[in-house]
Amino acid sequence: MDTIRLDESQIAQAAAILRAGGLLGIPTETVYGLGASGLDSEAVGRIFQAKGRPQDNPLILHIPSADWLEKYCKGIPPAAYALAERFWPGPLTMVLRRAEMVPDVVTAGLDTVGMRCPAHSLCRAVIAAAGVPVAAPSGNTSGRPSPTTAEEMLQDMDGKIDAILDGGPCAVGVESTIVDLTGETPRLLRPGGITLEQLESVLGHVTVDAAVTEQLKEGERPRAPGMKYRHYAPKAPVTVVTGEPAQSAAYIAAHACAGDGVLCFDEYAHLFPGCTVERLGSAERPEEQARHVFGALRRFDGTAVSAIWAQCPHSEGMGLAVANRLNKAAGFHIIYAGEGEA
Ligand code: AMP
Ligand code: MG
Repeated sequence: MDTIRLDESQIAQAAAILRAGGLLGIPTETVYGLGASGLDSEAVGRIFQAKGRPQDNPLILHIPSADWLEKYCKGIPPAAYALAERFWPGPLTMVLRRAEMVPDVVTAGLDTVGMRCPAHSLCRAVIAAAGVPVAAPSGNTSGRPSPTTAEEMLQDMDGKIDAILDGGPCAVGVESTIVDLTGETPRLLRPGGITLEQLESVLGHVTVDAAVTEQLKEGERPRAPGMKYRHYAPKAPVTVVTGEPAQSAAYIAAHACAGDGVLCFDEYAHLFPGCTVERLGSAERPEEQARHVFGALRRFDGTAVSAIWAQCPHSEGMGLAVANRLNKAAGFHIIYAGEGEA
């Protein structure tokens, strides 16, 4: 099929594609999504086909305002309303008990559903015009880094989706934070655009699921099905180096071979002559790193590098989300550069 490029003047056309059961590349503030009507099982099935996504990995339902929550969820706890009040529209997904009308294919058969109200104005306008919740995962081929521009999404999806709505580069650059509100205490399943510290300012203590910072052990069942899959990975193997930025940079400079790829903080980019260097942003600014991390990982695929070294930020604020994406891209192949214990 020919994938049509749409712009902001074509919201009605984009909405019509969703209503007709088509696949739409849709801009959000986090990453580009691959959207379909969340009430149309066949259309949602085509999302899995286009991405090559495993059937047991559920999708997030996107809604234009918090007052749609009651249509698709039941037993909504007060914490959900408190979070919606504070962070919606925005990069936060809440896992809640699902209502019967949500198709099984959206939730991969779980009795819970991930709900999000995005902050991108075009995205909300399309969903409101379509009048249906939009089921959408990130718009990449399964396993690859998520797209943060329409061009990046077309690298993976040109010819596989009906249309893409170009909303410009994504402002956040990593996916939404996912918090599960169905257990005894709130649990962070994926760090993202809303920080753990921000969540805790509303919820009190939030448990961080082990899969955020560690590889799942053999045979272990993840809380979020997506956690068990290799993710965000460029073609060449990635090694993450943690520790103080000056030390991780020195470690990489000492170990990288000529022709290797290096993903580093701006301050250290001059230390790797002979390597293919991509910049994450300043070591001091994890928000900037979040905007750059996926594009940089993708650009290595257009080069001949056979190994990639990546500096990694500390896990505070947005640093937790950036570190999570890098660690997953590396299959948790992590080296600590520095004195003493990691
Ligand atoms: P993506 O948008 O590509 O990041 O995919 C959506 C993410 O949300 C995946 O990691 C899913 O595993 C996760 N997710 C969606 N629905 C649920 C749910 N009901 N419970 C736990 N995780 C979910
Ligand atoms: Mg994804």
